[in-house]
Amino acid sequence: MRLAIAPRRLTLRTPLRTAHGTIAERELLDVLIIGADGVAGAGEAAPLTSYDGVALDDVHAALEDCRPVLRESEGLPRAQILQLCRGAAVLPQAIAAIDLALWDREGRRVRAPVASLLGAEAGMTIAVNALVSASDRAGAAAEAAALVAAGHRCLKLKAGIGDDAGRVAAVRAAVGPEVLLRLDANGAWETPREAVAQLRAFQDAGIELIEEPIHGVEALRDVQETLPGLAVAMDESAVGPGAIDSGATRLVCLKLSRCGGITGLIEAAARARAAGSEVYLASTFDGPLGIAGALHAAAALQPSVASGLATLDAFDGLDVDPVLAVRDGTMRVPTGPGLGVRA
Ligand SMILES: [Mg+2]
Repeated sequence: MRLAIAPRRLTLRTPLRTAHGTIAERELLDVLIIGADGVAGAGEAAPLTSYDGVALDDVHAALEDCRPVLRESEGLPRAQILQLCRGAAVLPQAIAAIDLALWDREGRRVRAPVASLLGAEAGMTIAVNALVSASDRAGAAAEAAALVAAGHRCLKLKAGIGDDAGRVAAVRAAVGPEVLLRLDANGAWETPREAVAQLRAFQDAGIELIEEPIHGVEALRDVQETLPGLAVAMDESAVGPGAIDSGATRLVCLKLSRCGGITGLIEAAARARAAGSEVYLASTFDGPLGIAGALHAAAALQPSVASGLATLDAFDGLDVDPVLAVRDGTMRVPTGPGLGVRA
């Protein structure tokens, strides 16, 4: 099979401030795998260097390592090709692109949505959260009110970027008691003690969950055990050996790019659940193919809380396939063949 790789640059409407730096644009690699039958499957690699420490050039090189494997793989089953690529390239961000393209190709070949191939239902809705990106109280409150007016029922705010408690209180006042508010500290707090002290300040605001209050599995376990009434979610720390299987936190946030695609994400979810953690999905500002892949995986996994997949609106000038529209705080699992979207 042939492999085509094309870089793509997407710009955020508004640069996003996080505890790991400001994100202003995204560089992706669009991947196409074309078989001798002429059927092409599309995937994308979406490393976010400031977040996962993986550079685009390294992902490109890892994809090149898969090229000779793919050339020799004509006619082999998808799972076997993926296994061979996993042997040739170690970066999950590259494997994710290959995995997405292989699923897309298989679905297009048999004219079925990927969700169906996973034994799930295409067309079902997946609850998603929206991100409140303004870092000042008034701006965040206005943004949150607009998101709720647009149908959102779960909002996420960054924490550890200053005036967290004031901003969260302003948002709570603006949206009322029913809307779910979740926080993401991106590991901003340095000790479990500091994290617990910061989190106690939000007690009255009613927080659905806190993502990555601190980095490290044992530190996260400490925070979760100290605050049993609060749902702690492991995100960045899930990359460490044994982290997903640790059961340290009530929730684990899984990302397609970091898990190595749909296949890797479903494997990771099974491990997390076996250890007693619930899972949900999130994007690292993936492109449309990554978002579609995550929706198919979510159909198979049915997370019990909203997933962070409503991120395509953050891009400036991206003509998003209407299939990926967000309505009333949900997204629909695409029903077309393969991933069911155009890139
Ligand atoms: Mg996060």
